Amino acid sequence: MYTDKFATKKGELKWSVEIMPPGLGKSIPDIKETLDDLVEYKPIGIDVTYHQEKMQYKKVDGVQIGFPLRKNPGTVPLCAYLVGRYVEKYGVEIIPHIICGGFSMKESEEALIDLFTVDISTILALRGDPQHLEDGFISHPEGHKYASGLVEQIANMNKGKYIYPIENAVSTKFCIGVAGYPDKHYESPNLDYDILRLKEKVDKGAHYIITQMFFDNKSYISFVEKAKSYGINVPILPGIKPLSSKKQISLLSSKFYIDIPQELVSEIMKHDDKCSKEIGTEWCINQCKELVEYGVPALHFFSMNRGSQIKEILKKLG
Ligand code: FAD
Repeated sequence: MYTDKFATKKGELKWSVEIMPPGLGKSIPDIKETLDDLVEYKPIGIDVTYHQEKMQYKKVDGVQIGFPLRKNPGTVPLCAYLVGRYVEKYGVEIIPHIICGGFSMKESEEALIDLFTVDISTILALRGDPQHLEDGFISHPEGHKYASGLVEQIANMNKGKYIYPIENAVSTKFCIGVAGYPDKHYESPNLDYDILRLKEKVDKGAHYIITQMFFDNKSYISFVEKAKSYGINVPILPGIKPLSSKKQISLLSSKFYIDIPQELVSEIMKHDDKCSKEIGTEWCINQCKELVEYGVPALHFFSMNRGSQIKEILKKLG
């Protein structure tokens, strides 16, 4: 179980990193470079994101029509490649993200069977974001509306129950992670409502939670305490993103619906943008030190496929 790799005591540093697949028509050299650099610092997990297909818009006879591009490639083959490259040598877990968006339940089952076949045993189960220009999330007509449905489907596969019965089916052994939001999910009316929804995912079989990025540890700590008060007792990994430019301040807050403390914002804004990375790194180191002392299961770094800043942070934490 992936959760067996988590820290067992306060002050113990464990960490994982999240990367994105290279994207349509690209290959893996950049990702390899990022990871080769980071694996030396012994991550417990490498997460690979999955994103819904994008729409392409064209005018046909004067009418604007949307065409879906093919499903974003990369996550499953990249995970299989990473298993071969890093698992035996570094004992790291390779963790694909599986989303509801764009998938029927049957397609999700097929993807999960493929992953199980290449020895993947940990999954992050997500709903996914709405398509570009869509008002809200629209599920596949035969797919899941919420991540909790996907969690239930995977938990059933762990009991040997498939949607389309398979003779002598083996039980999968997936360790299931889900997302949590210290600043609440943007569609939720309040944090308590969101945590009750999170509890549904845990009750349906999630083994651990990774949070959205946050920049004030107080919001993580009060989220963990509130989750516990609602009976959520699985490990909650803090999502960490070091800031590296002025632009990211508005970009990250608008894309991920998160708060960035004024102290950090004003420090970055009053200096030249050349200093942003240094300020963001320093802030992140302090954040990580405090979280490790508090006793987190593992730090989860969002790399956005850039490893050098994370490496610098790990050096200081080591
Ligand atoms: P859900 O748990 O389904 O929740 C979505 C919303 O619905 C919440 O507001 C919740 O409160 C509400 N809700 C849940 N159940 C119910 C119910 N029964 N009735 C009414 N309301 C309900 N996105 C990607 O596309 N690809 C990725 O690889 C990816 N990786 C991520 C990694 C992390 C660590 C995190 C934190 C997020 C990631 N996301 C990713 C983003 C995520 O897909 C979005 O935040 C998405 O909008 C919600 O996903 P979820 O799994 O939290 O959804």
